[in-house]
Amino acid sequence: MENCLNVPVFEIISDIAAEKNLKAFVIGGFVRDCLLRRNSKDIDIVVLGSGIDFAEKVARRLGRKKLSIFKNFGTAMLKTGDLEVEFVGARKESYNRNSRKPVVEDGSLEDDQNRRDFTINAMAISLNKEDYGRLVDPFNGITDLEKKIIRTPLDPSTTFSDDPLRMMRAIRFASQLNFRIDDVCFASIRENKERLKIVSAERITDELNKIVLSPKPSAGFIMMETTGILQLIFPEFQALKGVDEEGGQKHKDNFYHTLKVLDNISLVTDSLWLRWAAVLHDIAKPLTKKYEPGLGWTFHGHEFLGYKMVPSIFRRLKLPLHESMHYVQKLVLLHLRPIVLSQEIVTDSAIRRLLFDAGEDIDDLMTLCEADITSKNPQTVKKHLANFKKVREKMAELEARDSIRNFQPPISGDNIQLVFNIPPCREIGTIKNFLKDAILDGIIPNNFDAAWEHMIEKGKELGLTPHLSKEDILRIENQNGTIESPSPSKP
Ligand code: ATP
Ligand code: MG
Repeated sequence: MENCLNVPVFEIISDIAAEKNLKAFVIGGFVRDCLLRRNSKDIDIVVLGSGIDFAEKVARRLGRKKLSIFKNFGTAMLKTGDLEVEFVGARKESYNRNSRKPVVEDGSLEDDQNRRDFTINAMAISLNKEDYGRLVDPFNGITDLEKKIIRTPLDPSTTFSDDPLRMMRAIRFASQLNFRIDDVCFASIRENKERLKIVSAERITDELNKIVLSPKPSAGFIMMETTGILQLIFPEFQALKGVDEEGGQKHKDNFYHTLKVLDNISLVTDSLWLRWAAVLHDIAKPLTKKYEPGLGWTFHGHEFLGYKMVPSIFRRLKLPLHESMHYVQKLVLLHLRPIVLSQEIVTDSAIRRLLFDAGEDIDDLMTLCEADITSKNPQTVKKHLANFKKVREKMAELEARDSIRNFQPPISGDNIQLVFNIPPCREIGTIKNFLKDAILDGIIPNNFDAAWEHMIEKGKELGLTPHLSKEDILRIENQNGTIESPSPSKP
């Protein structure tokens, strides 16, 4: 316990409480994490009295001008070092059926602990002189911590029905901490799941993201599935579950397969969006599933349909709709390409095309593909990994030579226009594509000189005459500062 209290601001809080004859406690997540020896960056202080007044005194003592006050919530927050300390007055809450916003009144420490979601989140430590460091643990949270159990302090049905977000929090904490939800609570989540309807998508998704970011996310997804929550908040994922049989042939259960991929990738990355790409990589399998006699089960086009499904899923879950979504879409779309490359005799051209299509995200794509190997046969896994290694080596080799990842056309559309003295038209796109294809197919190297010759030839074919020379264009480019020096032809 002593190390938990090794935070300088606690002494200041203790002094002020004594001077003003108030009581202050550190409570909730900080106490839990400290007993679990986990780092936590936010500290909640509960005060018997006004949280805002107390915070103002602490800020003044720290010589601090900046204090964020949230009048509506009766809370105030200040930052010290990399810690965020939030002050709130002890309160009592009562709920009405249609909202997760409670009616709040001042209360005792006990009232405040009663309104907390789980026994392990309801523990407080006194910061008062007479019993500094005493653990106030009315629901025996410390035993639940030892037994790794998530349990509500009061009747679970009331707790979950009052604020249904707590059901998501229960699963999130169990997944994050590798805890088990107590049986009665678990049954109660099943019964109350429909109540999630009154919770905003943003709040649900915050918890979902924490599940995705937990050390072994499959644990949280399986709990969401068994309680019926998954069907409510993410039916596309629920649809992955199940196995069909026809002609004596079964396909694999794509729910467990996807979870294995997600667990695999979570061993090597903390990136939320790369993990989301794993969640969604096979999302269109249920919709593309087909039994074809002679061929067995197929999922033709699931990568493309999956790519198309991502935006509607992101929109409904209120996930961001720009960069991160496009990144996830791209990985879903491309997730079969490295597999194809590793199975056939690959041409350099096919590898350059993948480098071009994946661009900067090629390493993440390879990581996803490696996580996608879920065979139980170690020989098979070994074989696939070795193949991917070869693909990676070949990529590195070609990238060093041709710089495809950040492909910039060696001659811009504007310059093509200038050279042939033509208005913006189809031919410019045709020439640009022609140059790009020639580079990707290895017909010409990726540099200006080679591209120039090739462009002039193609122009002739299209009936276009050059009006400027190579030197003219280089001079114009130099003036504009876009080409620093003519790129020398590589041998
Ligand atoms: P983390 O910071 O890792 O999300 P935490 O337990 O600190 O975990 P917060 O959301 O920061 O979670 O909340 C701080 C404390 O407030 C919790 O420990 C809990 O005591 C209480 N709390 C938060 N949300 C709820 C809720 N929906 N119902 C009841 N108590 C809650
Ligand atoms: Mg917290």
